[in-house]
Amino acid sequence: MDYSRVTVRYNNQVKEVKEDGLVLLDETQNEYFLASDLILFTAGSQPSSIIKQLDIEKDPRSQKILVTDSLCSKQYSNVFALGDCSLIEGNSVPATAQVAVQQSFTITKNILRQLNNEERKENKPLEKFQYLDLGEMLSLGDYDATISSLNGWFGLSGPLAFVGRRAVYALRMPTTVQSVKAGIAAGAVTTGKFISNVFSFLHHEEADGSKKSSSNDGSRGSTVTVNEAK
Ligand SMILES: Cc1cc2nc3c(=O)[nH]c(=O)nc-3n(C[C@H](O)[C@H](O)[C@H](O)COP(=O)(O)OP(=O)(O)OC[C@H]3O[C@@H](n4cnc5c(N)ncnc54)[C@H](O)[C@@H]3O)c2cc1C
Repeated sequence: MDYSRVTVRYNNQVKEVKEDGLVLLDETQNEYFLASDLILFTAGSQPSSIIKQLDIEKDPRSQKILVTDSLCSKQYSNVFALGDCSLIEGNSVPATAQVAVQQSFTITKNILRQLNNEERKENKPLEKFQYLDLGEMLSLGDYDATISSLNGWFGLSGPLAFVGRRAVYALRMPTTVQSVKAGIAAGAVTTGKFISNVFSFLHHEEADGSKKSSSNDGSRGSTVTVNEAK
């Protein structure tokens, strides 16, 4: 690391992220500013303090609530947990929104099944959670994104991926009102960016006096890749 001129600052805390750098607290809680061109966030996450206080069986290492593959607590069958605060014993799934949303459907069905079982004196088994990896979508800033799906078989990047990502988010909102709001927001951002690209293109044309295409990132073309399944 030293050879590559990488400085590692241990036990420093990020207090604030600014456009031109970070406000940090050192080991002695002294505040200082670190100028940066590019900031990459790689911090981990931990369950909220309320989970730590709960008297329920947890995974000793992560302090997440241990659940069965039906997503109910190992200890209390009428307590369900999903998302970042839970850990399925023997079946680790990523801590992502995609997982949390899929788990919410399983939990809804299982709560209803438990209530029906109690009411009708039945013993129908609970549904087991099965994670379906739909792929990954990543925003790469202004009018740029990447989408990878079908186990890496399908890939899309550039402005089309940016629009596609926003459209998928809108479609997957839990309620119609939220979908419409997200759709309008996506449409507004895309139209705004399109108009600003047209203006920037025309400005370049005017400045250069020739038909030279704009070289800003917004005009970057989209790339679609279709690979053999991994
Ligand atoms: C910087 C960052 C980027 C991420 N990017 C992605 C991504 O691109 N794609 C992806 O799939 N995942 C991403 N994730 C992960 C994703 O956000 C989580 O996996 C997902 O939100 C987990 O959902 P959850 O419902 O378990 O928790 P959360 O979404 O955190 O919801 C927990 C809710 O509980 C509320 N809460 C907390 N304490 C209390 C309390 N005492 N009383 C009442 N309410 C309370 C919180 O306010 C919050 O609304 C990212 C996470 C981070 C931190």
